[in-house]
Amino acid sequence: MSRTPPRRAALRGLAAVGTAVIGFDPFTRSWAATASGRPLHDIPELDGSLHTDEASLNAAADDFGHLVHRRPAAVLRPGSVRDVVTMVRFCAEHRVPVAPRGQGHGTNGQAQAEGGLIVETTPLATVQPVGPRSTSVRVGAGARWSEVAKATLAHGLTPPVFTDYLELSVGGTLSVGGLGGQAHRYGAQVDTVLELEVVTGAGELTHCSPTRHRDLFHAVLAGLGQCAVIVGATVRLVRAPGNVRHYLLPYADLRTFLDDQRLLVEQRRFDYVEGLVSEDASGAFRGYALEAVAYGPPAGDAPDDTALLRGLRHDPSGAEITDLTYYDFLDRLAPGVAALKEAGLWEYAHPWLDVLLPGRAAADLAGRILGELTPADLGPGGVVLLYPLVRERLRTPLLRMPDDPVPYLLAVLRTTPPGDTATVQRLLAANRSAYDLVRAAGGTWYPTGSVPFDEADWRRHFGSAWPRLAAAKRTYDPHSILVPGQGIF
Ligand SMILES: Cc1cc2nc3c(=O)[nH]c(=O)nc-3n(C[C@H](O)[C@H](O)[C@H](O)COP(=O)(O)OP(=O)(O)OC[C@H]3O[C@@H](n4cnc5c(N)ncnc54)[C@H](O)[C@@H]3O)c2cc1C
Repeated sequence: MSRTPPRRAALRGLAAVGTAVIGFDPFTRSWAATASGRPLHDIPELDGSLHTDEASLNAAADDFGHLVHRRPAAVLRPGSVRDVVTMVRFCAEHRVPVAPRGQGHGTNGQAQAEGGLIVETTPLATVQPVGPRSTSVRVGAGARWSEVAKATLAHGLTPPVFTDYLELSVGGTLSVGGLGGQAHRYGAQVDTVLELEVVTGAGELTHCSPTRHRDLFHAVLAGLGQCAVIVGATVRLVRAPGNVRHYLLPYADLRTFLDDQRLLVEQRRFDYVEGLVSEDASGAFRGYALEAVAYGPPAGDAPDDTALLRGLRHDPSGAEITDLTYYDFLDRLAPGVAALKEAGLWEYAHPWLDVLLPGRAAADLAGRILGELTPADLGPGGVVLLYPLVRERLRTPLLRMPDDPVPYLLAVLRTTPPGDTATVQRLLAANRSAYDLVRAAGGTWYPTGSVPFDEADWRRHFGSAWPRLAAAKRTYDPHSILVPGQGIF
């Protein structure tokens, strides 16, 4: 079948990149360098730049998972929020897919867009100044949580909840939820957001909050980028501790480990509770370590080991107790990440599984999933996390949680040699089986990892929240250009 030859006259959108000029041809749906000097129309001049070079396109066609590769047509490095508005409007007009990309730490092509435009949010990283009495901070979506923490800690303040790894973008974690060991006290990061500044899929710059464009606010938080690009967020702040005491408590039995974790989060005894599962001498995943942190003054009292550990059933001979500065605690993964990078393991494929288990079935589900895990399938440098949340603090409608007062996050964070596609496919299938098992028991997917999902799965995943998300999609992204990599619409 012959195709209509691309007409040069069809080049309608042009934008300056340095001294060169990039044109967009809606017939071939491609961007290309064109003769400079062409009149700029459709796209006004940008404060930042559009890139179509190989290095930019290849980088945007990859992510931390190294499993999915979809090549965009161009990458926007915005010089301003206005650039995001301009380019999203342009893409809406020409029906070009768009995906914002923070740090590209999704594992399943979530921030990729075949033949589309990637909006790198890294340049939108301003953290507005705060003072000692501030109760919130306004941050650009491209800021990393490490940057937000450093800026607010200078005034003795901190966002209340952090992901384990700090080098993720604010926009990236607010699009998925943002879970960490403090979430049992404060909810997920999305639950600490007071206001958002977004560019909708129609290219409208809008502020939204629980009292202003509430439908949009709730469609964007944990909304996987479907309705708008987050360009800024106002996040709650609390007093930061100077130092913290970190406890690592070994357990030999899964049920005892889970029960003690539950006790701690129900009693709010610690400020942070997580847990790790590792292999024992026989290679079975039956070594449990409860990780808990108590904040010192001025955010908490001086930690009292006797009171904090009372009644816990860990093996006291293996307990490790360490005092750290608050920032060193937040940034505790940094040395391990540096070692993984050094060993080349950061470039391995990451077919990750993240599921939320109903507390009532957590021991059974975790036991079955971990019972099938082998050290080889976890891979070198792989990690298993298992920790409780408190349902009533998780109030964001699109962050789908099991209907249980204390759900548990189970994260099997695998590494696999990137060229080993047979193993990757087998592990993706194992992720799907684990998800099916979890869902049948009332659990959900925490959609950051890699579980093969189709549109029907997404509908089921969002459940009662689906009609409102679908309505918001029609209203705010009427041409359905935003974030196709999630595969939801
Ligand atoms: C090493 C590591 C540790 C992690 N630890 C945790 C953890 O402790 N807790 C936790 O909850 N998660 C954790 N995650 C998962 C992580 O929170 C998500 O993958 C998150 O989306 C990554 O942020 P990012 O900036 O890399 O986003 P990207 O991968 O760039 O984007 C992820 C998705 O969000 C969309 N998006 C990005 N920016 C915006 C924006 N401004 N507006 C709208 N949509 C946007 C993208 O289009 C894409 O669909 C971890 C991931 C890694 C790799």
